Amino acid sequence: MVDDCIFCKIAAGEIPCIKLHEDDETLAFMDINPANEGHALVIPKTHAPNLFTVDPDSLGAVVRAAQKIAIAVQAALDPPGMNLLQCNGPAAAQSVQHFHMHLLPRQTDDRLSLNWGLRPGDAEAVEAAAERIRRHLD
Ligand code: 5GP
Ligand code: ZN
Repeated sequence: MVDDCIFCKIAAGEIPCIKLHEDDETLAFMDINPANEGHALVIPKTHAPNLFTVDPDSLGAVVRAAQKIAIAVQAALDPPGMNLLQCNGPAAAQSVQHFHMHLLPRQTDDRLSLNWGLRPGDAEAVEAAAERIRRHLD
């Protein structure tokens, strides 16, 4: 755990999140600034800042969890598209320095681009989407 890392604090349960799934190595939860309905994040519980430093086994665990969550998001929300993406460094708009993968459902003509900007979501709407997704997990 790294001091002042918001995702380490979420992984440790010190800061709340809208959780989707957890295993020994990973945690999946809803993004607090959803770019679209169902926007979720998957993180390794062990801190690493980015793709260049994350332990390969940890990366593998995150990718496996991301597929599991993606299948549930697809089943729950049936978006016409989905991105699995991951950002490194300021020009890629990485805003949290703890490795994470975005699961970003897409809508036709949603005009999202890379570096989409952060806008707070409606907490009730995010929880409602999470509940629909959870029904397709486990
Ligand atoms: P990045 O910009 O680093 O690729 O993605 C970081 C993501 O973490 C952003 O989409 C941002 O909305 C999300 N985020 C930042 N702080 C929090 C938080 O405290 N809780 C949750 N659930 N998401 C967060
Ligand atoms: Zn961390």
